[in-house]
Amino acid sequence: MENIGNLIYAGKAKDVYSYKTDDNVIIKFRDDITAGDGERKDTFKGKGKCNSLISSKLFEILEENDINTQYIKLLESGSMLSKKLNMIPLEVILRNIATGSLTKRFPFKEKQDLKPPIIQMDFKNDEFHDPMLNDDIIITLKIATKDELSEIREITLKINEILSEFLKTKGIILVDFKLEFGKDLNGNIRLGDEISPDTCRFWDINTLDTLDKDLFRKGEGNVMDVYKKVCNLIVNEEDLNRWKIK
Ligand code: UDP
Repeated sequence: MENIGNLIYAGKAKDVYSYKTDDNVIIKFRDDITAGDGERKDTFKGKGKCNSLISSKLFEILEENDINTQYIKLLESGSMLSKKLNMIPLEVILRNIATGSLTKRFPFKEKQDLKPPIIQMDFKNDEFHDPMLNDDIIITLKIATKDELSEIREITLKINEILSEFLKTKGIILVDFKLEFGKDLNGNIRLGDEISPDTCRFWDINTLDTLDKDLFRKGEGNVMDVYKKVCNLIVNEEDLNRWKIK
């Protein structure tokens, strides 16, 4: 691909490359999938393309609703042109329904509605295995200031409203999701990373069937069939044909 520079960062399922202009980067979605703190790994052909299309569509909807994100455009399926951010090492998790680690660690009932939703902040740090944080720890470790935390919370709640409403029209319940934020070169907070079945729990509105990475975590079902299903539900026909997903 023209204008692609050096590899800056290699994550578990994505790589970040420099771009011809200093204020942008290219995020490449790989076909890899991991679970359990990176202990289980596999590769599914086409997953990177699928996740890049889902993520782009969701970022576009957020931008249309005045959320500042790092997303600029898809360069080709699998490669996203994005604004360069200094990432804040937080995993901001919002939960509308109790499941997953929440019900393992606390006495919440499985599928319990959480109204208002719960926002949880984990430290994105492999050495310490992403521990859950509280405001005092975040502020004292200088991960974010008090004001930045309120801004991140406010944006996260707004994102939840926008995405929950959109996904509902596609037959999907947004159960929970993880966001990552960063600061752009002007110091403004923007949503970064991805929004995909790797980072969200999606349930079928009628059957409550899992449409996300939980299938891989639990070793059930055909992961790619489900990712493709989500892609087909969310991405419009024209883009699916353009990027040859079908
Ligand atoms: N999540 C993620 N990355 C992580 C941890 C969580 O994207 O490193 C997402 C996960 O996909 C789910 C939500 O955050 O949508 C809540 O995850 P939970 O803490 O229940 O994770 P579990 O331990 O059950 O995977």
